[in-house]
Parts: sequence; C-alpha cells; structure tokens
Amino acid sequence: MFNVMYKKTAVSAFLIFTITSCAYAQEYYYLLKYRNNNDLEKIKSIAQVLNISADTTFVKMDEKNVFSAAISGVPIKRVTENYFNKQAGLKSLSAGFSSDIKTFSNVDQSSVTEMLSKITKVEISSYITILQNFNTRYFRSAQCNVAKDYLVQEFKSFGLDVSTQSFMNYGTLNYNVLAVKPGKYMPEKICVISAHYDSTSDDYLVNAPGADDNATGVAAVLLAAKYLSAYEFSYTIVFACFSGEEQGLIGSEAYARNLYNQNTQVIADINVDMIGYYTQGIKYDLNLTTNRNSQQLVEFISQVNDTYVQMPLDINVNDYAWWSDHSSFWDFGYNAVEFCEAYDWGSPDFNSTNYHTTHDTLDKLDLDFTLKNTLVAVASVAELADLYVAELSVLQPAGWVETVTRGETYLIKWENADTEQVSLYYSDSFQGTQKLIATVNGALKSYSWNTSGVVSGRYWLCLKTQSGAEDWSSGQLVILSNNFESFIIYPNPARTEATFSGLPPFTNIKVYNLAGELLINRTTQNQFSFTWNLVSDNHGRAGTGVYLCVLENSIGDKHICKLAITK
Ligand SMILES: [Zn+2]
Repeated sequence: MFNVMYKKTAVSAFLIFTITSCAYAQEYYYLLKYRNNNDLEKIKSIAQVLNISADTTFVKMDEKNVFSAAISGVPIKRVTENYFNKQAGLKSLSAGFSSDIKTFSNVDQSSVTEMLSKITKVEISSYITILQNFNTRYFRSAQCNVAKDYLVQEFKSFGLDVSTQSFMNYGTLNYNVLAVKPGKYMPEKICVISAHYDSTSDDYLVNAPGADDNATGVAAVLLAAKYLSAYEFSYTIVFACFSGEEQGLIGSEAYARNLYNQNTQVIADINVDMIGYYTQGIKYDLNLTTNRNSQQLVEFISQVNDTYVQMPLDINVNDYAWWSDHSSFWDFGYNAVEFCEAYDWGSPDFNSTNYHTTHDTLDKLDLDFTLKNTLVAVASVAELADLYVAELSVLQPAGWVETVTRGETYLIKWENADTEQVSLYYSDSFQGTQKLIATVNGALKSYSWNTSGVVSGRYWLCLKTQSGAEDWSSGQLVILSNNFESFIIYPNPARTEATFSGLPPFTNIKVYNLAGELLINRTTQNQFSFTWNLVSDNHGRAGTGVYLCVLENSIGDKHICKLAITK
C-alpha cells in the first residue's frame, strides 16, 4: 500500500471577482496559466488582464490571441458562468460521488487482472504512430476530421455504439467522438474516460504530431474501449475523445454541458492528458489532479492502483486546476480527475521540451511509463463501472443431490455474483417455472434458506442477476415432508418398474394383492423416492392386476393407494 499524501493548494483569489456580464457565447473570458514574469508580460501583451493569482490570470482577449496563446503553449480555459457558479458553491451543481458509487470492490479481480495483462506497449505505440501520422490534428486542419473518422471506425470495430457531437470552435465545426458501452444494471449512470485528440504546435497546420499531447491519452481511451468492451458492467461507460481542447477546453465544455442539460448522472470522468513522457532524474510517478469535490474518486483510484498496478502516485488537490478537460466536468459539479505525467505546465516533470512543438513524437516517450499509466486508467474504469462476470455458478458438484426435511435450513452458495442483487429461485423442473426464494446482496455469496412452507419435492436452484443473467444448479435439492402431499406412483399402470415418489423420511411401504397377500415390505431411509422392480420379496414377479399400496410414515400416518400392473 502506498500512503497517499495530499498536496493542498492555496485557494485562488478569483472568488472575490464578481462576474456580471459573463454570458455564455456572447463575451468570452479566459484563464491563462503563467510560470514567471516573462509569461505574464506575454499575456499582458495579448489580453486584458482582469485578475491575477499566484499562477493564473483571468483575462478578456480577442479570438486571434486565443490561438496564439494556445500555440505558444500557454494552458488556456475558456470560462463560462458555471465556473463561477461552482466556485460560489451552488449545491445544485454537485453530483456527489459517494451516493453514486459503491465502495471498492465487488468486482471480480481476477477478470480485471487478466484483462490488464492483455494490454501491451506494442498496441500503445501502434496507436500513437497512427495518430501522429495524421501529421496534424489541429482543430482547423482537414486532418483533424480524418483523425475523427479514424476514431469513429476504430470504436465501431470494438462493437460499441459510436456517435459524434459537433460544436462550433471559433467558427470551425469540430467533433467529439463518443463511444458507449451500455451498463447492464444501471445504464442511466455513466462513467467517462476521456482524452482530447486535437493537437497543436509551432507549425500547427502542417506538423503537429502531438504524440504525448495527447495521442497517449487517446491510446489509453482506445485500449480501454477495446478491452473493456468484452465485459459487462453495471454502469454505462462512455469512451470520449474531445476536440477543441487546445483553444480552451471547448469540446469537453460542450459535452459536459450537454450531460448536465440532459440531467445525466455522471459517476466520474477520468481524463487522460499527457501520460507518456518521463523526465529522467524526476520521481517516477503518475500525477492525479483532483478538486476537493472529487477526492473520494481519487481515493478509490488509489485503491485500484494498489490492487492492480502499484504505480507510484502523486495526488494533488486543487479546485483551480482548470487546465485540461476534467475541469469542464468540475464546472457542472461532476467528479473528475486528470491523469498526467506532471502536476502542471510549470512542474519539473512536465514535457516542456517537446510540448506543443513539432518534436512531440513517439520516440521521445517512455512506453513502460505510458503502459503503467494506461493500466491505472483502464483498471479504474473497470472498477468504477463495476465490471462483473455474468456467469454465476452454484458451488455444489455436478449431479449432486442433497436432502433436507422441511423446516430445516439449507445453505445456498454461489460465486462470481459481482452485482449488487441476486435473486434465488427454486423450480420442480430444470429451467422450468421458478418460485422466488429471496433477493439478496450478491456479494454475500451464500444464503440460508428456511424451507418451512415449501412443498416437499426435488428442486433445481436458479440464481439470477438483476441484468437477467442466470445460472441453474447442476444437481437437485430434495425437501422431504412428513406427510404425503407430493406422493405419486409412476408409471401407473406399470410394466417393468414403479417409482414411489414424494415419500416422507423412513416410510414403510407394503404392497398387497387383492387376495391380501403381502408382496413387499420395505422401509425407506431419508429418501424422496423408491423404485420397485415389481418382483415380490419371495422372488415371484407380480402379475397383471391391481395392487394395494399401504404407506406409513415414522409417526404412524398412513396413505393408501392402488397400483395397476400390466404385461
Ligand atoms: Zn493536452
């Protein structure tokens, strides 16, 4: 286990700034990061600075300067009214993490481990190569749409439902690519794993490979889609590739706004942005950046990491860490976390040499580092969306028969029921009409069934998840009662043998012919049925005719019936 150390960041001074005219889509305001006075002077030369905190400026500026700021690498966020609503603490915007997600973990861990073992560096480098070979994915380039079409086809090849969301990015139509794996149990709740696929550089229309920023994140989303799509989940997963990130998080803002307008219940967004560059000499770790609202999410992810990957984590809590698409989710009160190689733009482990240049290429990346960071993201989604194995199995061996006397308790056991509720049934025929025993928490993996009130019989057991997955027992449970409520003889008339079924425990069976001669006199054990081969105790075969059967249970209750025997 790693001890999670939280870095608390000082709260920004922006709260004191009151917005009166920040109407969305009419007049734009921006947040711009700065590292030093040099950055600050540049910002002042292109923007009207309204407020300054320790590392961020709040500005108004012209559209053309937005692009030049983005190209020069200044992290930028276009601010809408929600940024300030949220910061003012409007409770109506809070999605709440704890009420929407169960605690770690009911998930079948061996399935997750097996799934993670299939993800390789080769696949990661292959996706990064494909993405950087589009030459540029700048939002105003034709190649950006070629990349979009590629992503649509790739997600479709995994059998997912794929759609695009168009939005205007300063007069250019851009597209988010959204692939959906519907949840089986609570599909109305969604988990998002996201990465922006647009890129930029100092030669943005021709050469903006964006390998680290952010083909690494897109590769993680694609691999999550490829491998998670083979499983079932309680909750819906959305694999989202955003555009327009570099102009101020425009695509993710449009997406999160749409989720909010549709009252979508969002469990969390895991946003992956730059996870491939390892700076030699700096601590080898993955940075998770969260706001205070999403701290439980990050604690959850930390447990997932401890279980599956053991990547060293550096966790930062900062309500004002607004510099990638996760903050669009924060603006609408949703939980979100950023996965990044560095805490932020000015950190020593940030890929500052190649960031937003033509040199941001695959050969600069550390693929072992990228793979580990990818695995943390994929495992986190598997756990958050509640991967479960739909095949349940009753633990008794094949062909088992167990017997209880009515009123006794029978322990039903099962495994792999990784869903919140399991319904238990019994049926007098295999895959026949079922009667409900109980609906219980699947994680309990056993249930003590009080058999009082159950008609005596031989029963198959059936387990069902809420999604409808079901499993039948391979053997039978016999419930005996002390009366003859279920008693029958079959076949009747009999030719070669007759089965006395529905017997109380320790029943005495006597069969007489109509002359009153006794053919057999048997006492059963703790058994539900007895099959007679029609041979009498003195070895003569019973001939054609009608016979009288007298049954007596262990407390002297009698049941009398006729049996016909033919040739
Ligand atoms: Zn980025």
